[in-house]
Amino acid sequence: MSCLRLGTWQTANIAAVVFAVLAGSLFASAACNDDRDKMIKEYVDQTIDFTPACGDFTSDGHSTHFTFAELNTGDFSAWAILRGSLLSGIETTRTKNGNASLTVNSAYRNPKHNSGVEGAAKNSRHLHGDAIDFQSDEDSWGGLRQAGKDASACAEPQALSGTGHVHLDWRGTCPANW
Ligand SMILES: [Zn+2]
Repeated sequence: MSCLRLGTWQTANIAAVVFAVLAGSLFASAACNDDRDKMIKEYVDQTIDFTPACGDFTSDGHSTHFTFAELNTGDFSAWAILRGSLLSGIETTRTKNGNASLTVNSAYRNPKHNSGVEGAAKNSRHLHGDAIDFQSDEDSWGGLRQAGKDASACAEPQALSGTGHVHLDWRGTCPANW
């Protein structure tokens, strides 16, 4: 009998330890202890197709010709998701477009900001940190889009974007006709 009691007591203690370790690691992975926690909650609350971790955000990501402030077009000035594929892709696009200076209309957006943008897709690549909208007009649209495609971007067709901006993203596998 005493052996059985000891066994039950040990099992209960092991279970308690396992629970404490799991709870501790879950808590540790969830809290960034700054505005990133609010941003991550927006992804969860809006059931976006991915949930970023603390390490997915940057407070100073930029490229040679584009500053962090230009690329962070969300509501939280200190944090954005800016993938390496975006930062290198926009530089290659600029080069392929004849090194002309380019105006960023939009790059990173947090979910709440994105849901207020007319025509923006719920799971827009702007939430993933690999998309950019460059300002354009009827004359520049075609050349700028081609420069993006030459830089391995997925490029939104004119029927969807109009000519006021060129949307480029580096998601990898592009939709048909992008
Ligand atoms: Zn866009």
